[in-house]
Amino acid sequence: MLYKYETHLHTSEVSKCGKNTAVEMMRAHKKAGYTGVFVTDHFFNGNCTIPRHLSWKEQVDLFVRGYKLAESEGEKLDLDVFFAWEYVNNPFGEDYLIYNLDYDFLLAHPEQEHLPFEEYSRLIRENGGYLIQAHPYRTADYILYEANPKVDLIDGVEVNNTTSDSPHNHNELAWELARANPQLMRISGTDIHNTDLVGLGGVAFPYRIKSSQHFIDALKAGDGYLIIDGEITDMEGNIVDKTV
Ligand SMILES: [Zn+2]
Ligand SMILES: [Zn+2]
Repeated sequence: MLYKYETHLHTSEVSKCGKNTAVEMMRAHKKAGYTGVFVTDHFFNGNCTIPRHLSWKEQVDLFVRGYKLAESEGEKLDLDVFFAWEYVNNPFGEDYLIYNLDYDFLLAHPEQEHLPFEEYSRLIRENGGYLIQAHPYRTADYILYEANPKVDLIDGVEVNNTTSDSPHNHNELAWELARANPQLMRISGTDIHNTDLVGLGGVAFPYRIKSSQHFIDALKAGDGYLIIDGEITDMEGNIVDKTV
């Protein structure tokens, strides 16, 4: 028995590119047999719906709305909902999934979107957070720079990104990066913006995850599996026969 988790999910309340609401997303994941999801809306410096003229607190309150709506629907459905976000290092178009930090951290650090990436990484880690680079080799109109992963400044790599709006994820290069840097955690994420793609990506564990820290600990312990195109694989991407 494995417990499935989506690691990379957007809500239409907070992500401009999101096509489904938090509630619709939660219902779809419950129906698809997931135990939990990480809500990873685009941060203020990315494709985010939050008006920028508001006070920092007002912006942060609106930013966590997608997560909060998801969480209260999750409570009704017995679906575990965790808070995270997707930060972009401008102008390079490098996206990072940030796990294990919360509302209080966001509120306390209005400077974070203006930091050079090295300092941003330090701030996240010093506060107990983790950076997992999303689709490090994606090519798309909005990415104007050559891929340049900074392995010392990240904790993991999204070796498989499903999203269909960006066909050029070059996951095979992300796998190469992960293999060359075995200290990095590996995750798979659907980068889901639309419930049509539910079930294609994520990670799975043989036990239920209690918190974001528990998720990281479970990955580091080597207890995780990947969900790639709806199949359960080991951390090398080999399909394994597991009941979920
Ligand atoms: Zn998006
Ligand atoms: Zn995303």
